[in-house]
Amino acid sequence: MPATTLYRKCLVSKEAATKNGHSAVPVNFWPHAAVIAPNNFVYKSLSNWSFNIAVGCSHGCTFCYVPNAATIKQGAALARFGVRDPDAQWGKYVLLREWDEKKFLSSLNAAEDTPSAQLKPDGNRAVIYCSTTDPYQSIYHPDIRMRKELGRAARYLVTRSLELIRDNSTLNVRILTRSPLARLDFDLYKTFGPRLVFGMSLPTLRDDLAHIYEPKAPAPSQRLATLKAAKAAGLHVYVAMAPTYPDSDKADLARTLEAIAELDPITVFMEPINIRAENVQRIEAHARTLGRTLNTEVFASPEEWQMYARQSLKTVHALAKEYNLASRLHLWPDKTLGSQTSLKAVPNQVTYKRWLDRKWSRISEWPK
Ligand code: SF4
Repeated sequence: MPATTLYRKCLVSKEAATKNGHSAVPVNFWPHAAVIAPNNFVYKSLSNWSFNIAVGCSHGCTFCYVPNAATIKQGAALARFGVRDPDAQWGKYVLLREWDEKKFLSSLNAAEDTPSAQLKPDGNRAVIYCSTTDPYQSIYHPDIRMRKELGRAARYLVTRSLELIRDNSTLNVRILTRSPLARLDFDLYKTFGPRLVFGMSLPTLRDDLAHIYEPKAPAPSQRLATLKAAKAAGLHVYVAMAPTYPDSDKADLARTLEAIAELDPITVFMEPINIRAENVQRIEAHARTLGRTLNTEVFASPEEWQMYARQSLKTVHALAKEYNLASRLHLWPDKTLGSQTSLKAVPNQVTYKRWLDRKWSRISEWPK
């Protein structure tokens, strides 16, 4: 469908939605265009820019750092859609950005023309889809017509923008999702050759654990199947074992790494779950509704968490060696692990600090 036709359709839907009183449902169109914007990743080596299709995310992961770090800044605008507390209501609102080809192209040109000297080298001149939402989420709306319109518009945002990046720039693309819906675009990804890498978040193979921490995201078993399909399709695959959970024991981490090793990924990112604002309370509350108790004692104090995080990183590093993944393992130690408290807790501060610096300055692999 040509861009203009679909864009007009979106506008019609927006008017219809408001007329029908659905503007109070926080699942709608967001009155700002989706563009490529510089991002502020620290020590992640994921990308230099982000393309985010929506404000909010229907996957509603209980640990998600986005509502506190990014979405909270949209508080006043979100209130107009009935969102009173962007953190507490995370997962219940999805505001899809509009498509404006002129604005998108202008942002694409700005990114393309950015001198290399101004870019963080660990970004690989890549645009990530997405950093504050999921590019392949299912968007639910009580009105079936709106649901279809939003779903179609979301697909268009992703496919049209990818085509424009491919044909009008030399930028790379990193796809990061939890959804098997990404299979719909495997053929499009292939047209990028080594300019595109495809990855999924796969912190555990335990569907029951994911059901607590990522209640509305597709199960890990589905994600692993999607990663296998991507590999079979000839795509460059990576995996984000992120964030891992305190309830994942060594055996679960080993099983997950064993399955990942079979994919022969270009990179395996890994970080243990971290405390952010109200995410611990959110995780505990959701676990209670499922009658489950979690190992949340690791969040009892910063020192407890740092001990847990150091141990998790060490365990995964040791396991990665067993599965021949050590050279492709890209650990993400949080910056607080370099604090004085953390340094005092380790036997050899100098070696530990050097190890942290190596992880923090690591540039992730990109296919040639
Ligand atoms: S899929 Fe990503 S952005 Fe969406 S809720 Fe989960 S962690 Fe957050």
